[in-house]
Amino acid sequence: MKDTDGFAHGFDPDAVRKKYLQERDKRLVEGRAAIRDLRADQHFARYRLDPFTEYEDRDALTDDVEVAIIGGGMAGVVAGAQLRKAGVRRIRIIDEAGGIGGTWYWNRYPGVMCDVESYSYLPMLEDLGYIPKNRYAFGDEILGHFEAIAAKYDLVADALFHTRVDRTEWDAGSSRWFLRTDHGDEITARYVVMAVGILNLMKMPAIPGMELFRGRSFHSARWDFEYTGGDTHGGLCKLSDKVVGVIGTGASAIQCVPHLAEASEKLFVFQRTPSAIGVRGNRPTDEGFADDLRPGWQRERMENFQAIMGGVPVESDIVADGWTQHFGPTHSYPRDPAWSNQEYGKRIEAFDFEVMEEHRRRVEETVEDAATADALKPYYRYICKRPCFHDEYLPTFNAPNVELVDCPAGIERVTENGLVVGGREIRLDCIVYATGFEAETTPFYRRAGHEIFGRDGVRLAERWKDGPRTMFGMMSHGFPNMFIMPCPGQQAVITVNHTLITVEAAEHIGAMVGRLEEKGVATFEVSEEAEADWCETILSTYVDASPVMLACTPSRINQEGDPKALPPLSGGYGGGMGDFFGFKKLLADWRESGAFTGLILKK
Ligand code: NAP
Repeated sequence: MKDTDGFAHGFDPDAVRKKYLQERDKRLVEGRAAIRDLRADQHFARYRLDPFTEYEDRDALTDDVEVAIIGGGMAGVVAGAQLRKAGVRRIRIIDEAGGIGGTWYWNRYPGVMCDVESYSYLPMLEDLGYIPKNRYAFGDEILGHFEAIAAKYDLVADALFHTRVDRTEWDAGSSRWFLRTDHGDEITARYVVMAVGILNLMKMPAIPGMELFRGRSFHSARWDFEYTGGDTHGGLCKLSDKVVGVIGTGASAIQCVPHLAEASEKLFVFQRTPSAIGVRGNRPTDEGFADDLRPGWQRERMENFQAIMGGVPVESDIVADGWTQHFGPTHSYPRDPAWSNQEYGKRIEAFDFEVMEEHRRRVEETVEDAATADALKPYYRYICKRPCFHDEYLPTFNAPNVELVDCPAGIERVTENGLVVGGREIRLDCIVYATGFEAETTPFYRRAGHEIFGRDGVRLAERWKDGPRTMFGMMSHGFPNMFIMPCPGQQAVITVNHTLITVEAAEHIGAMVGRLEEKGVATFEVSEEAEADWCETILSTYVDASPVMLACTPSRINQEGDPKALPPLSGGYGGGMGDFFGFKKLLADWRESGAFTGLILKK
C-alpha cells in the first residue's frame, strides 16, 4: 500500500532506520567473523573428509593432456562440455570430491534444494534434452544432471577424484602447465581451467571450547547419515532419541531444519540473525511445460531473470518468484530520470521496507508463540543479506519439540555436553554446524587452495594481493594459457543465477580455445597494458556502497560489517553487480573480431 507520493504507507524512515541499527549493533560483536581454518586445524581438519564415497589407493600417474580442469563442479563440467564441443580431446578434471558435482556433491543434507528455479539453474537443459521434475530442483536431481552432462561429454573416464592439486606452475620451456597433486601425480597441460568453486570452503566458526564436545558433530556440507540415518530427502530415523542442535539459520539450515525437527526427540535451532524467509511455492513441472518450448528457450528464460535482477525492462516476468518480485526491484529499482539521487534512494528504501514488512508479517501469521515469532522477524534491509525461500521452515517452530535459541551475539562457548548461550548450557547429543562457507569474494588464490606460479615464477597470490588483476575477470597477465572461471568480486559480473555467468564463460573459453587451435597458437597471455585497461575499466565504474552497507546487519554481503575490506579492484564490469548484457556483448564482439585484442599470441 502506498501514500499518494508513492512511498510506503505508514513508513517512518527514521524509526525504521533506528530499529535496524539497534538490531545490527547486537550482532556487530568482536570476533563474530572468526573462523577455524579447516585446512590447518588439528581438531577439525577431518571435517573436510568425504563421507559419501570411499577413498581408494591408486598409483601416482604422469600424464600430458590438452586441458586440465581444476574442479569438477558446475563450472568445471560446463567448461569441459564446451571444450569438447570445440574439439578438445584430452581433458582431465581433478577434484577433491569423490565424483562430479562440486557443491551438489558435498551438500546432501536432508532437504537440500536450489531456490533458483530449476529451468534456469540446471545448465544445458536443451543439450541434454532434459526437463526438471519440479519448479525448484532437489539436490539429488541437480547432482544427477551434472553427472549426466559429464557422461554425455565423456568427462569422467579421465577425471581424478579424491585428488587435490597442490601446485600449479607454468613451465616456459615446454609451454605447459605443470600440476602436482597430493597423490604425487605429475600432469602437464597446454591449458588450465581454474573452476575451483565460489562457496567451496566450509566455514567453521571459532567458538571457544569446540574441541571439547563429546557428542557427534559435523558440518551441513558433510552430512553424517551414518549417525542420523535417512538420506537427502529426510527420514533421519536414527535421531528419534537424540537431542540435536543446529547452528545457523541461513539457506542450508532452513532446508534441513524441518527434517531435523520431524526426526529428533528435541531440536534446538541456534539463531544469530534471522533470515528473510520468502515464499518458495515449489510444484511439479506442468505436464505441458515442454510443449511450446522453442530452441533457445533456456537462455531466453535465464536472461529474462537476469534482466529483472539488473533492472532492465522486460515484457513479462517469466520466472515470477521472490527473486524477481523482491530481489530484483530492491537491488535495481526502476528509476524515473526526474528523480534526484536522494529521492531515488528514498524510494528504494521505502520499497525495501515494504518487502521486509511482508516477510515479518509472514512470520507473525505462521508462528504461534509470540516470543518465538518476534525473534524470527528479520530487522534489516532486504539488500543486506541473502534472502531465503521456504514454506516449511517457519511452521516448524510450532512443533512442540522445537526450540529457537536466539543468540544475536553468537554462541558463548561449547562444552563437553553442548552449547552455552546467555549463561544457559543446552545439553545436546549432536551439533550440526550449518555455518556456511567463506564468502564468494574470498580471493581466488585462497579458494584454489594451492600455490599457483606463473611465468618467471610469479606467485598469483602475490600479484593479486591488492585485489584481482585480470582481463574479463578470466585471464591474468603472467599466467599464460590459464582461464579462471568467473566469481563475484573477480572483475566480471555477478548473476544471481550463477549458472548464467558460468555458461557464458564456458562458451567463451570453448570458442576461444577452438579459434586458438585453428590459428595454431601455442600460447596466449594477456598483455600488461590490456590487463591494466581492464582494471581501469573496473575502477572507473566502481560504486562505493559502504555508506549503505555499513548500516546493514553484518553478513557476507558487507564483509561481516566491514564493507571496505573488499578492495575496489574486486568490482565488476559496469559497477555494482555488473552489467551482464554489456559484458556478454563485449565478449561476443571481442571473439567475433578474431583479433584477440589484448593478448600476446605465440605460435
Ligand atoms: P550462511 O548463509 O552463511 O549461513 C550460516 C549461518 O550460520 C548463519 O545463520 C550464521 O549467522 C550462522 N553462524 C555462523 N557463525 C556462527 C556463530 N559463530 N554463532 C552462531 N551462528 C553462526 O550459510 P549457508 O546456509 O550454508 O548458505 C551459504 C550459501 O550457500 C547461501 O547464501 C547460498 O549462496 C548458498 N546456498 C544456496 C542454496 C539455494 O537454495 N540456492 C541453498 C543452500 C545454500 P549470521 O546470519 O548471523 O551470520
